Amino acid sequence: MARVALVTGGTRGIGAAISRALKEAGYQVAANYAGNDEAAAKFKAETGIPVYKWSVADHEACAAGIKEVEADLGPVDVLVNNAGITRDGMFHKMTLQQWREVIDTNLTGVFNMTHPVWNGMRERKFGRVITISSINGQKGQAGQVNYSAAKAGDIGFTKALAQEGARAGITVNAICPGYIGTEMVAAIDPEVLKTRILPQIPVGRLGEPEEIARAVVFLASDEGGFITGSTLTINGGQYVA
Ligand code: NDP
Repeated sequence: MARVALVTGGTRGIGAAISRALKEAGYQVAANYAGNDEAAAKFKAETGIPVYKWSVADHEACAAGIKEVEADLGPVDVLVNNAGITRDGMFHKMTLQQWREVIDTNLTGVFNMTHPVWNGMRERKFGRVITISSINGQKGQAGQVNYSAAKAGDIGFTKALAQEGARAGITVNAICPGYIGTEMVAAIDPEVLKTRILPQIPVGRLGEPEEIARAVVFLASDEGGFITGSTLTINGGQYVA
């Protein structure tokens, strides 16, 4: 039986590339998303990958959603925590709501999703938990105190949980992308992108979602079994961690 992979935020951007790459690598893939039904329907029609709508920030909805995925496809062997949002603003103007939304989705969402699949992975003595953190969780970014804190938290989560999962055959890793050409980056002012961001990237371009997806496929594979607790930096040389 093909292994089952669940990708959060798996219908757009980096997540969609990850879902497609895992399917191509032979996994049975389920793609979760939050609210963009149109993008999800288009993705499903193009790929044949089933889509499941719930918010990773909602603890109960995660447990219920995972139950549904497991009833349809079988136990989750590979969890890719990719869903993420930004609510940017300088700290002196940042509201508690901006802080909470980002922490709830980008950090607590990782807890909400990993907890319900963890015991099953332990019992079956196999599992892969791969969390998409960010370069800005490694180096910090002005205007993104909330996002940087959540993404740095994802790295700590990964390092600690890797130690708990190692004996049970579960690897836990984080990937830190630099700037990748998705809608999240399209939201940045093109002038800022051209004059301030691109000059900081030694390879001189944005990354492609597929460049993150290929790393996920490797970490999920049997060949990646000795890699755990690691933070894989994929950023065109922008920040050498
Ligand atoms: P996009 O904004 O293009 O896509 C985000 C995806 O996450 C969508 O599928 C969206 O669902 C989903 N999502 C958002 N909130 C929730 C939620 N509460 N519950 C479930 N799904 C949710 O983002 P990217 O592809 O650019 O980013 C993917 C990940 O990579 C994020 O974690 C991001 O922080 C990280 N990252 C991105 C970088 C970049 O340069 N793009 C750089 C570094 C890290 P819906 O379609 O329904 O809105």
